[in-house]
Amino acid sequence: EEVGMAGGHDEKIFVTVRLRPLNRKEIARNDVADWDCINGDTVIYKNANLSMPDRSMYPSAYTFDKVFGCDCSTRQVYMEGAKEVALSVLTGINSSVFAYGQTSSGKTFTMTGITEYTISDIYDYIQKHTEREFHLKFSAMEIYNESVRDLLSTDNTPLRLLDDPERGTIVEKLTEEILRDWDHVMELLSLCEAQRQIGETSLNETSSRSHQIIRMTVESSTRELLSKDNSSTLVASVNFVDLAGSERASQSLSAGTRLKEGCHINRSLLTLGTVIRKLSKGRNGHIPFRDSKLTRILQSSLGGNARTAIICTMSPARVHVEQSRNTLLFASCAK
Ligand code: ADP
Ligand code: MG
Repeated sequence: EEVGMAGGHDEKIFVTVRLRPLNRKEIARNDVADWDCINGDTVIYKNANLSMPDRSMYPSAYTFDKVFGCDCSTRQVYMEGAKEVALSVLTGINSSVFAYGQTSSGKTFTMTGITEYTISDIYDYIQKHTEREFHLKFSAMEIYNESVRDLLSTDNTPLRLLDDPERGTIVEKLTEEILRDWDHVMELLSLCEAQRQIGETSLNETSSRSHQIIRMTVESSTRELLSKDNSSTLVASVNFVDLAGSERASQSLSAGTRLKEGCHINRSLLTLGTVIRKLSKGRNGHIPFRDSKLTRILQSSLGGNARTAIICTMSPARVHVEQSRNTLLFASCAK
């Protein structure tokens, strides 16, 4: 099966929403699911008890490129919501797949699966395309408090961003592993997870406050012996971005370090929101990539001819209605 790039690519950001099932905690609290997916592309609010003024203040239906109800598998989310964008890396086009949503809405659950499905498909593709020689590189980082950390290294020293005239923004000293095989991928993914959890205990729930980027770079060229003409080299990266909990961008902040932390997370998420909104309206005018570390690092995978997919995850629970509305608002601005 070929990567579906025929007919030129659509520059629009691909925006989807994934509703997870109610979890045990929500069920134990007698919470109810107020949101549902219909027609494959619309999320509806179905709380009939809501009073009229409240009801008229908010739309009760939100339409996106695709929506995934609580019975959809991550495989389906990958196939219909991320695959085409992610695999454009094989044709030399940079791409990013984001998971956006409040803490516990399913971002990590979704991104973990999508990362594995993508890499597995990349390996399948490589096996079928023996006329080219491929080199795969893997790196992983975490942005916490506008400070970048290598997730493949036990050294916690913050990494600096450098501007390279040819390659754009570079994360200095970031480990880049040359992938050997699938087992190596699995090993690196579990190393990242462990590294992220170490941060989590020492920095108090870091994962809900940090952005994680897993980046895979695919380099390929025609084999000289097989084909003497067109020995072009293609290089592109696909980024899997597990964003900090979106509640951090909206919740009221307490004093001290928490405030600083909140501001930084706020800055990255807000800047990402602004960048994405501007990109979705067409790629002209000033786009403030440089206003946050996250958007600087991802600039070459967001602007230009790069492709972007955003999967917004949400809980259907009544208790989370405000956060769910914020998520849908973000998603609506991105499309
Ligand atoms: P987040 O990364 O947004 O904080 P997680 O991905 O960690 O959220 O999900 C929170 C919990 O809900 C996890 O235990 C996860 O396994 C579970 N979960 C999330 N999405 C789904 C889903 N679609 N189906 C089943 N369980 C899910
Ligand atoms: Mg998470």
